[in-house]
Amino acid sequence: MSVRYLTILGCSSQQPTRQRNHGAYLVRWNEEGLLFDPGEGTQRQFIFAGIAPTCVNRIFVSHFHGDHCLGLGSMLMRLNLDKVSHPIHCYYPAGGRIYFERLRYGTLYHETIQVIEHPVEEDGVVQDDGRFRIEAAFLQHGVANVGWRITERDRRKFDGEKLKALGVQGPNVRLLEEKKELDINGRRVALDEVSSIRKGDTLAVVIDTAYCHRAVEIAQGAKLLLCESTYLERDKELAKKHHHLTAGEAAEIAKRAGVEQLILTHYSARYQDLSEFASEARAIFPNTFLAEDLKVFPFPR
Ligand SMILES: [Zn+2]
Ligand SMILES: [Zn+2]
Repeated sequence: MSVRYLTILGCSSQQPTRQRNHGAYLVRWNEEGLLFDPGEGTQRQFIFAGIAPTCVNRIFVSHFHGDHCLGLGSMLMRLNLDKVSHPIHCYYPAGGRIYFERLRYGTLYHETIQVIEHPVEEDGVVQDDGRFRIEAAFLQHGVANVGWRITERDRRKFDGEKLKALGVQGPNVRLLEEKKELDINGRRVALDEVSSIRKGDTLAVVIDTAYCHRAVEIAQGAKLLLCESTYLERDKELAKKHHHLTAGEAAEIAKRAGVEQLILTHYSARYQDLSEFASEARAIFPNTFLAEDLKVFPFPR
């Protein structure tokens, strides 16, 4: 049984509030734990969420503004303390390497974990390890900032009933997958007769950008889009000035990209009540939900 859900560990922008921690987003996906933008306090948010930090094996940093990375050092130290034996892959814009190094070695500790760095130099595929294809797009935030597109590999799904009816069982199932067709009980069975391809899901993360076509591209057809919406349309001028999105613009990205579900996050501390974010976005893209600290969103089926 595969798992796939997003846990919001924090959803504030630059300044946390009583209700909203600095941003941080954990995606449990199959056997993996993908952590995006660990802001300050992320380690403790894991405790509130009841999740062991040891599940993390990939960490993505969109850019090196503090609200997206101040928790990186403490997360790495925590994984070190917990003696995780799996490698930790870290993805970040290459221009921010100096900040990555400072955060990683900001304090005294004896490092035993294996950290594999993936500094991103340009748009395109960053890594495809057969489990996930990770793509990056540089967005418009006034500093080097990356949006992510993560796609799981396609899987072949067998139909148990059909296998049984045609007498395909045991090692023959694997053999059929390998050879694409097999003679069973005097009948030629084709692989596609008893199975189908389940297309891998795509998750897109667009955090901290002005409205730009790269944001639409990286989110194209995604099952789930996690997108910043720092401001409301009535504060559009501020959004423009600080290279951020309004809720309406985030919804426009979701609509143009044809995603299935949009989750808004990264709200400015000036807003206490978030209901207007929902109404503004839903007028453009109805299937919109609001991130809140410790809220869990399963991938839409
Ligand atoms: Zn931010
Ligand atoms: Zn920023």
